[in-house]
Amino acid sequence: MCSVVGIYKNQNAARKCFYSLFSMQHRGQEAAGISSNEKGEIHTIKDRGLVTEIFKEEHFQNILKGDMAIGHTRYSTAGDDSILDAQPVYAKYGLGELSIVHNGNLTNKDEVRNELIKKGAIFQTNMDTENLIHLIAKNYEKSTLQERIVDAVNRIEGAFSLIIMSRTKMFVIRDRFGFRPLSIGKIRSGGYIVASETCAFELVDAEYVRDIEPGEMVIFENGGMKSIKLFEATPKKCIFEYIYFARPDSDIFGKNVYETRVEMGRALARELPVDADMVVPVPDSGVASALGYSKESGIPFELGIMRNHYVGRTFIEPTQEVRDLKVKMKLTPIKHKIKGKKLVVIDDSIVRGTTSKRIVRMLKEAGADEVHMRIASPASKGACFYGVDTPNPDELIASRMETEEICKYIGADSLAYLSIDGMVESIKDKKNDYCFACFDLEYPIKVK
Ligand code: SF4
Repeated sequence: MCSVVGIYKNQNAARKCFYSLFSMQHRGQEAAGISSNEKGEIHTIKDRGLVTEIFKEEHFQNILKGDMAIGHTRYSTAGDDSILDAQPVYAKYGLGELSIVHNGNLTNKDEVRNELIKKGAIFQTNMDTENLIHLIAKNYEKSTLQERIVDAVNRIEGAFSLIIMSRTKMFVIRDRFGFRPLSIGKIRSGGYIVASETCAFELVDAEYVRDIEPGEMVIFENGGMKSIKLFEATPKKCIFEYIYFARPDSDIFGKNVYETRVEMGRALARELPVDADMVVPVPDSGVASALGYSKESGIPFELGIMRNHYVGRTFIEPTQEVRDLKVKMKLTPIKHKIKGKKLVVIDDSIVRGTTSKRIVRMLKEAGADEVHMRIASPASKGACFYGVDTPNPDELIASRMETEEICKYIGADSLAYLSIDGMVESIKDKKNDYCFACFDLEYPIKVK
């Protein structure tokens, strides 16, 4: 749950990075950073906090200059939340300088790190991304950065959408599974953008060109780009990008997220019909699926719950105490709409069950006759090792309880989840090309 961006050959590279990171703030709110490259000199500003809190006008006037820049927003999935673990990760090494941003998690981080430590490497952070710096810097046998990067990414395993900026080039790499999205756009005022989500293209006035393929490395140099196939692609794209993470206006893995969520809602209505008076979304992530449910079932769609937008997402807040309080602060019912009505309430997922329990209680206290929960994804049972901060499996309610028990716990009149096949039907793509491991526990790569 991070975002990466790279801007190549645009006079306002760092500012464009800033706007792109702002568009992708939903992918991580702990820290952010930008490295810019002015005539071969790399400068970095990074800090904890939101993008708009970190960067000031004077940074762009005096430090973050040049026509190449990379950026990152962070939500910690590997490492900890110290400022040292914010990205970009910058280093001086034998061939010059480089800066790296990374979205994803390396599954053999510990194995590689222990090997490097035995050979005398000293680490400053807990981030898996720092392994890459060492693998590149210590590879004395290879004389070019490109060769060293290729060797390094052959040594790492897991999920990585990477952007590496050197003094003259930008290397963009996606792991062979393609877990995390990464797309290229052409900026109308000149140069290219590479970003985790295409919603970043709007603010910098860029046009979508294509996705970086799983297993592909794209090198931006001499004003253009060239592609090298590094690995045989074995796609396992993260289905959760569609369900929860990505912004609805983004196109992920070649499909629009909003449309996909509407389709998931339609599939949910076909699989799990309810006799109800109205379809109510849990805002905001349940809205598109609720619309789909309403269209397919013919039951009217109503915004029965209001969301206060000045409170962060509950799923990504670190402690239970803060989460509990934020649910109360965040959602309120529109009483006169729902009083005496049978509701089918649509949410995108159930994680710990706390939010759903509060929502059901709130709706019943507001006078709803019946509350039927319909979830536009299967029951979340497992952790993610590929870059998404899912809670410990013990905290996932569906890893401990059957659907009936969960229904009782949250106090709903009925509860049902969309099936994996229902999701596949909605994305209209090959089932085998997707990772569903947090639902079916079929992990495509083991953690070493
Ligand atoms: Fe995505 Fe779940 Fe697979 Fe992680 S385990 S990559 S969240 S589908």
